Amino acid sequence: MTELPDDQHITYQLQYRKCGKTSCSTCRKGQGHGPYWYAYWREGSRLRSGYIGKISPTGVNNAPSSEEGQATIAPIVIHKRVGEAALV
Ligand SMILES: [Zn+2]
Repeated sequence: MTELPDDQHITYQLQYRKCGKTSCSTCRKGQGHGPYWYAYWREGSRLRSGYIGKISPTGVNNAPSSEEGQATIAPIVIHKRVGEAALV
């Protein structure tokens, strides 16, 4: 699994993916497989991405994976800022 940086601005996205098989009815009828969580962040000038899975990334850092039963509807984008003080 891709290692996510903890000092970057990570964007999480819930996405569907198509497997590419012409015989796959899931892809032919709908958006594809999923939704699965993906993380996107910048590494220098490059945009990196990492596959997370079906579990919400809110549980990635410290919470136990007890959110599996939670139904989440796409598309959801979470902007997570780390190491950045909130200026009010
Ligand atoms: Zn498919």
